[in-house]
Amino acid sequence: MHTTSADPAGPALDRPSLRPDCGNCFALCCTAFGFSRSADFALDKPAGSPCQNLAPDFSCTIHDSLRPRGFRGCTVFDCFGAGQNVSQGPFGGESWLDRPETKDGMFSAFKAARQLHEMLWYLAEAQTRTFDPDSSIRAGLLRNRIEKAVKGELPELLALDIPGLHSQVRSTLMDVSEEVRASYFATGDDHLESALKPGADLMGKNLSSRRLCGADLRGAYLIAADLRGSDLAGADLLGADLRDARLEGADLSNALYLTQPQLNAALGSGRTLLPADLARPPRWSKA
Ligand code: SF4
Repeated sequence: MHTTSADPAGPALDRPSLRPDCGNCFALCCTAFGFSRSADFALDKPAGSPCQNLAPDFSCTIHDSLRPRGFRGCTVFDCFGAGQNVSQGPFGGESWLDRPETKDGMFSAFKAARQLHEMLWYLAEAQTRTFDPDSSIRAGLLRNRIEKAVKGELPELLALDIPGLHSQVRSTLMDVSEEVRASYFATGDDHLESALKPGADLMGKNLSSRRLCGADLRGAYLIAADLRGSDLAGADLLGADLRDARLEGADLSNALYLTQPQLNAALGSGRTLLPADLARPPRWSKA
């Protein structure tokens, strides 16, 4: 792990602390958000109300059969650790069932904290990957500001200018991306190079067994793309849509800005190489 000695914000955040801990959360993802009947959810659910599949102990009664029952979206979602922190932090471990008067505040706090925790995930990676002291300091200071907000008082959290913070975080992530990607050689294939760009429509494309190192695939549509056996070291995958992308045998161990929801939505196997902080989706092992 790389951090600069001049970094006043301290070492990069330990990303395992941004993993969900459902046992210490009051099922905030199953209550705070609303969803519409679609390929991802088998029913309509208004925001702020518990899902009909939620048990009184905050477990999911159909947890082992979510996909066959039409709840694919639930298998993809990840709160980046916001659920347990909101449940146990500002609300002191008392649930919205025990104290219904806290419900609105708790759900609003979760929606804000989820966005902030996602930013923390990215900033931790930026701070770890950069060799530029200025970028490391910027990432660290933003991280400190966000951590203070998520651990602070509820009114301050709810009053936070999240879009403003988001744009500062984005600019830092892009600077680090440029630096990291520059350390990889081009693919040597001009046709491929011109196709690999931010926001590119690469749906269903055959990109198997390619060297995609250092590609800028930020926001790219890689739905059902074939990335089997490809090397994505240093490829920026910030916000890339990897739904049903084939990742068997792909090397994602050094991909940039990859998240758990992206992996959860993709198709991989035991042969897919992953970054250390990300978990192999359980259904992959069956593939
Ligand atoms: S189906 Fe289960 S995991 Fe999905 S929202 Fe409902 S209770 Fe939560």
